[in-house]
Amino acid sequence: VAEEERSKRLGSKVLVVVAHPDDVDFAAAGTIALWRRNSAAITYCMVTSGELGGADPDCPPEKMAVTRRAEQTAAAHVLGVTDIRFLGYPDGEVAATARLRRDICRVIREVRPDRLVTHSPEIAWEFLVVSHPDHRATGEAAISAAYPDATNPRAHPLLRRDEGLGPWHVPELWIMGSPHPNHFVDITDVFELKLAALGSHASQGVLDAPEAAARLRQRQGSVAAHGGLPHDRLAEPFQVVRSGNLG
Ligand SMILES: [Zn+2]
Repeated sequence: VAEEERSKRLGSKVLVVVAHPDDVDFAAAGTIALWRRNSAAITYCMVTSGELGGADPDCPPEKMAVTRRAEQTAAAHVLGVTDIRFLGYPDGEVAATARLRRDICRVIREVRPDRLVTHSPEIAWEFLVVSHPDHRATGEAAISAAYPDATNPRAHPLLRRDEGLGPWHVPELWIMGSPHPNHFVDITDVFELKLAALGSHASQGVLDAPEAAARLRQRQGSVAAHGGLPHDRLAEPFQVVRSGNLG
C-alpha cells in the first residue's frame, strides 16, 4: 500500500519509448490524455519512423517516413504532447543492440523521467499483433536502457564524458502489450481523444473501416471487465513494475 501511495506521487515526468508511429496511440493514448490533464510533462521517443507501414506498397519509404512523422506529431498534439524524438532506426529491423540501448539511455538521462512507458519484450500469444518483433526488441532495449544502463555511471561512458549526462534511476516502468497486465487505467472519459489521436494516422487507415471505432471500444471494454472495472467502462492495460524490482 505504501508503494501504491508513493506511486501516486510519480508520473510528473513521463518518457514513452515505442517502435513505430501510432504504437503509443493504440496502446496508451487514453492514459497519456489523463496524465496530461494532471499536467505531466511527456516525451515521446520513436525508434523508427514506421516507413514500412501503410496500404500503398509503392510509396517510397523515405516519403512514408516523412508522412508518418507528421502524423505522429499531429496525434501527439491532440493529446497535448509536443516533445517528440525520432531515432530513425530502420522499420522492421529493430534489434536490442548496444547502440540502441545507448541511444535510449541518452534520452532517459536527458529527460530524467519518473515513469517509463514501453513495449513488452514478451510475446502475448492471445493478441499477437501487439507483439510485433520491433515492439519486443524496443521493449527489451528500453528496459535495459533504464536498468542497468541509465543507473550505471560506467555504462555508455561517452554519454557522461562527452555529453555530460550523468546516471538516472527510473522508479517506475509501465509495460504495454504485456501478457501479464496488473494495472487497468479507466479511459472512458477520454476515449474520444484516443480516437482523435488514432485518426491522425491517416496513411495507416486505422479508423477507415466503418466498424473500427466500435471494435476498439469493444476491446477496451473487455480489458476493463478483465481488470474488474464497473460495467460499461473502457480501459487500457499495463504491467506496472515498481522501484523495488529495479535495483
Ligand atoms: Zn508498431
